[in-house]
Amino acid sequence: MTIKTANIGFPRLGRKREWKKAIESYWAGKTNYDELTTTLNDLHKENLLLQKNYNIDSVPVGDFSLYDHVLDTSLLFNIIPERFQGQEVNDDLLFDIARGTKEHVASALIKWFNTNYHYIVPEWDNAEPKLNRNVLLERFQFAQQLNVPAHPVILGPVSFVQLSRGGDQSFEEKVETLLPLYKEVLQSLVDAGAEYIQIDEPVLVTDNAKELEDITRHVYDYFEKAGLADKLVIQTYFEHVDLEFVNSLPVKGFGLDFVHDRGVNLQQIRDGKLSKDKALYAGIIDGRNVWAADIEAKKDLIEELQQYTDELVIQPSSSLLHVPVSLDDEVLDETIEEGLSFATEKLDELDALKRLINNGDAEKYDQLKAQYERFQNQAFKNLEYDFDSVRTHRESAFPERKKVQDARLKLPELPTTTIGSFPQTKEVRKKRADWKNHRISDEEYNQFLRDEIARWIQIQEDISLDVFVHGEFERNDMVEFFGERLQGFLVTKYGWVQSYGSRAVKPPVIYGDVKWTKPITVEETAYAQSLTDHPVKGMLTGPVTILNWSFERVDIPRQEVQDQIALAINEEVLALEDAGIKVIQVDEPALREGLPLRKEYHEEYLKQALRSFRLATSSVADATQIHTHMCYSQFGEIIHTIHDLDADVISIETSRSHGALIKDFEDITYDLGIGLGVYDIHSPRIPTEEEITVAINRGLKEIDRSLFWVNPDCGLKTRNEDQVKEALSVLVSAVKKLRQEQGQETA
Ligand code: GLN
Ligand code: ZN
Repeated sequence: MTIKTANIGFPRLGRKREWKKAIESYWAGKTNYDELTTTLNDLHKENLLLQKNYNIDSVPVGDFSLYDHVLDTSLLFNIIPERFQGQEVNDDLLFDIARGTKEHVASALIKWFNTNYHYIVPEWDNAEPKLNRNVLLERFQFAQQLNVPAHPVILGPVSFVQLSRGGDQSFEEKVETLLPLYKEVLQSLVDAGAEYIQIDEPVLVTDNAKELEDITRHVYDYFEKAGLADKLVIQTYFEHVDLEFVNSLPVKGFGLDFVHDRGVNLQQIRDGKLSKDKALYAGIIDGRNVWAADIEAKKDLIEELQQYTDELVIQPSSSLLHVPVSLDDEVLDETIEEGLSFATEKLDELDALKRLINNGDAEKYDQLKAQYERFQNQAFKNLEYDFDSVRTHRESAFPERKKVQDARLKLPELPTTTIGSFPQTKEVRKKRADWKNHRISDEEYNQFLRDEIARWIQIQEDISLDVFVHGEFERNDMVEFFGERLQGFLVTKYGWVQSYGSRAVKPPVIYGDVKWTKPITVEETAYAQSLTDHPVKGMLTGPVTILNWSFERVDIPRQEVQDQIALAINEEVLALEDAGIKVIQVDEPALREGLPLRKEYHEEYLKQALRSFRLATSSVADATQIHTHMCYSQFGEIIHTIHDLDADVISIETSRSHGALIKDFEDITYDLGIGLGVYDIHSPRIPTEEEITVAINRGLKEIDRSLFWVNPDCGLKTRNEDQVKEALSVLVSAVKKLRQEQGQETA
C-alpha cells in the first residue's frame, strides 16, 4: 500500500523574518496597504511553492495569516469585540483588535496550548455572528492558481468556542450559531475542489475533551447531515486523544500526534480503536522541535501503521509554526548540523520516507539514517555526570538559615529590592549589537557595562533600596544569555519562531550534554558589589526555565537534561558565593507554564522541576540567601511545589491579580520569605504611594511581617529611566512610612 505526505502548517515568518518586517513597516506607516499585501502574497506564494517542491502531496492553506489564525477565524465569523464593532471588517480592523488603538485596548493574548505561541482570544460579548469575506476560500484559490496541491485548514467549532470568552450564550448556543456559517465555508471549499479539509480540534487532546464529547458529536453529526463527512479530517496535536471516542465521529479521517502523545495514540491503535476504513493522518515527524528524525524508527512506525488503516498519510506532528524555516542560512559545525531539522528539512524527511516506502528508493533515506547515527554517537552527547555528589537539601532548615542570614545582611523590616533588570535602553542594545558585530572592542564594551552598572548602583543608593542588583545590561534575553555561555547549547542566527503577532523568539538549541566551563555572571555582579555596602543580588535563570524556553533534547530523559542544566547553574551559584555575593536569585518564570497539557502528568513534571531547582540552589552555605522569582501569583495546584523549592525568598507578581494570592495561601502556611510585586511594571504609569501601601497591607494580612519583602512585579527592562526612578522612589517611601508606623506601635 502506498502512502502520501501532507503538511499541516508552515512558519509564517519567512526565512529572514520577512513577514515580521513587512507587517511592522506597514504599522509604522513606512509602506502602504498595497505594498503590504504584495509582499505578503509573495511570501505566501513562496511558502506554498517551497512545500510543493519538497514533493508534499498536500500543502495546507489557511495556516498563513496576517497575525494569528484564531483571530482570522473570529473575523471570518464576525466575532468582533464589542468596542471594535461598527468598523469595516478588513485587515486594519484585524490589526486594531490584535494591537489595540488609542481608544480601545487590544484583545487578550493567551498561550496556544503548551507552546510558546500566543493567540488572540475571541470575544463574544454582543457579537453578531455572520459570514464575512471568505479569506480562506481566496487563499485556497490562490494555491490552486499556483498549481500547488493544497487542502484548506480551519480551526474547528469546538476548539474555537473553547478558546473564546464572553457572551451570554452557553457553549452549546455559541456552537449552534456557528454551525451554519461553518457549513457554508466548508461547502464553498468543497465546491472549489478541496479534496479534504483539515479541521483542527486540538481541544480533543486536553482534559476538557471528555466533557465536550456530546457537543463534539453534535457538531460532526451536523456536518455529516450536510454531506461533508467524507471531506473532513479532524486534526489534533500536542497530546493523545481518546481514540475510541474520536473514531466514532463521522468523518473521513483523523490527524493524530505520534510524537508528543507519550505513546498512547499508538497504543490505542494497537488495541484496535481505529477503524480500518478511516484515513489516518499520522503525525510522525516532530513538528515542534528541531531534531533530525530517527528515520529508521519512523520507517518502522509507518510499516506498523499500514496494518491498521487503508489510507495512510504521513505528516508533521503539529504545525511547523513552532520551528524555524530552514537550516540553509545557518553556519554551523557540520557534526551538529547533521542532527538538526527545521521546517524544510522536516518536509524532506517526509519525502525520503515516502520514496522509500512507495518506490523502494532508499537514497535519501540512507543518507538521513547515516547522519542520524553519526549525531547520536558524538562525544558531546556522551559526557559523564555525578549527580549524587550535589546536594538537593540546604544544610539547615529555613528558620536556622534565616537567623544566620538576618545577622549577616542586617536588613530593615519589609526589605525592598527589584527583580533584576533595569532599562534596556536603545543605547544599551546598540552597544551590545556593536560588540557582537565586532564594531567595538571587548574593552570598550566592558567599560560601557561598568559605567552603566556604577550609574545604577548610585541610583539605587539615592532611592535607598535595601538589596541591589547590577541591572542585567549585558543580557539580551534571560535564556539566550546563558545558552551562549554554557557548553551544549547552540544559538542560531535565523532560528526564529513566532511568539505572538510580529514578535519572534530565538530559543537556544540544547544539542549536547550541558556543562559549565567558566563563570558567567561573576564579573559584573562582583563589580557591582565592590561599589556598595548594600548586598547585591546575583541574578541567574533557573534550570526549568532554561529548558522550557529552549529547544530541548529528546534523546535522553527530560529530567536528565534539566539536571545537567541544574548542575551548571549550581556551579555558577557557587562561583558567585565564592566571590562574596550574599544573595543569589534564580529566576523560574517558566515553571508553571511548562505544566503538561493533561493533569495526569503534572505531578511528575513538578517533581522533576523541584529536584532540578534544588540541585541548582542547595549547595550554598546557610548564610547565603537564595531568592527565586516567578511572574505570576496564581499558584493554585503548584503552591506546594513552590513551597518545597525551599528558596529563602520568592518574589512574585501580584499587582495584576489582586485577590488571587489570598486564595492560594489559604490552604498552606507559607513560612518562607516572600516578596510581593506591589506595582505593575508592564504599564508606564507611576503608582501612587497609597496604592502601594494598600497592596502591602493586603499581603500583610496573609503573610508574616518578618517574612515580607517589597518589590515591583517583574524586571524593569522595558521601562525608561525616569519611570523606574519615580516608581521605585514611591515604593521606598511607602515602605518607610509603614516602618515608622510599626515603630510607633511597638514603642
Ligand atoms: N531577572 C529577570 C529580569 O528582571 C526576570 C525576568 C522574568 O521574570 N521574566 O528581567
Ligand atoms: Zn518576572
